[in-house]
Amino acid sequence: MLSQSFNPKYFSKLNWNENKKYGATIMCKKNVYWPKFKSYQLKESINDNTVVVLPVGSCEQHGFHLPLETDATLVYRIAEEAALRAEKQIYILPPIWAGYSPHHMDFCGSITLGRETFHHLLFDICKSLMHHGIKHILLLNGHGGNEAILKTVVDDLGTKSSIYPILITYFNYFAKQIKERQRSTEGGMGHAGELETSLQLFLSPDFVDKDKLEGEIIPGNKYFKPGMFINNKIYQYRPFSSYSPIGVLGEPQAALKETGEELFNLIVDGLAKLFDDIADGIVQQLQVL
Ligand SMILES: [Zn+2]
Repeated sequence: MLSQSFNPKYFSKLNWNENKKYGATIMCKKNVYWPKFKSYQLKESINDNTVVVLPVGSCEQHGFHLPLETDATLVYRIAEEAALRAEKQIYILPPIWAGYSPHHMDFCGSITLGRETFHHLLFDICKSLMHHGIKHILLLNGHGGNEAILKTVVDDLGTKSSIYPILITYFNYFAKQIKERQRSTEGGMGHAGELETSLQLFLSPDFVDKDKLEGEIIPGNKYFKPGMFINNKIYQYRPFSSYSPIGVLGEPQAALKETGEELFNLIVDGLAKLFDDIADGIVQQLQVL
C-alpha cells in the first residue's frame, strides 16, 4: 500500500500553518517536496536537524522490457515513499534523471553526463543546500555507474566544508535482504534483471513489456564477473555491449510483482528509519574510543 501521493492543488491554496491545521482534509499526510514549498516556509522550517534527500538516477538502456528512466523513477519513488513514511519532516529534491553511463552508450537512447559535469552538478546542488543552512544531506543513488563519482562529490564537500553528506546506493544498502528474496540463479538480479523488473512490475507495470523478458548471466572468469553484488578482485572498464548484446545482465524472467512489493516496502521502511536517524544525529555520531 502506497501513501497517498502529494496533490499540489491543495497546497497551492494554503499556507504552511493552514496545511497543518487542515491536515486531516488534505490529500496526503505531509508535504515532503522541497520545490513545492514557498521560500519563506523553508526559511521558517529549516533547523540543525533538517534532512534533505537527493535521489540520483540515470537515463540508460534497460534491455527490451524496461524503459530508459528505470533507475531515476525507481530511486525517486523509493525516496518519496520513505520520506512520507518517516516520522520526521524529510525533504526530497526532484531526481537527477541523467547520470554517468558511458558504458551504455552503444545502445540507442542512453544519455550520459561527463564526469566533471556530473560532479559539478551534484556538488553545486549540495553547496546551495548548505548555503541555506542544511546540515544533513543524503545522496540516494539508484545507479551503480554513478557510485565512483558520487564518492568524489562527498569527499570534496567534506574536505571543503564542515558538512559531511551521506551517500548510499539503495540496492547495496539492502543487498542482504534482496539476496534473501532472490528467485533467480546467482547473478540473476543484475542490470534490468530480477530486482529492477520486480520493482517496476509493482510500481509501473504498464511500462514493463512482459512479452520481452530476456536476459543472461555472464560467467566471466576467476578475476572478473559482471553483475550486481559481486566483489570482483579487479576493476576494469568494459562497455555493456561487450557483456550482452541485448543490454540485460540477469534473469528478468524470474521477476514477480509480489517480490517487487515486498522489496519496495522493506527498502522504504528501512530508509524511513535511516532518514529519522539522520535527523536525530544518530548516524553522524562517532564514538571515539
Ligand atoms: Zn537500472
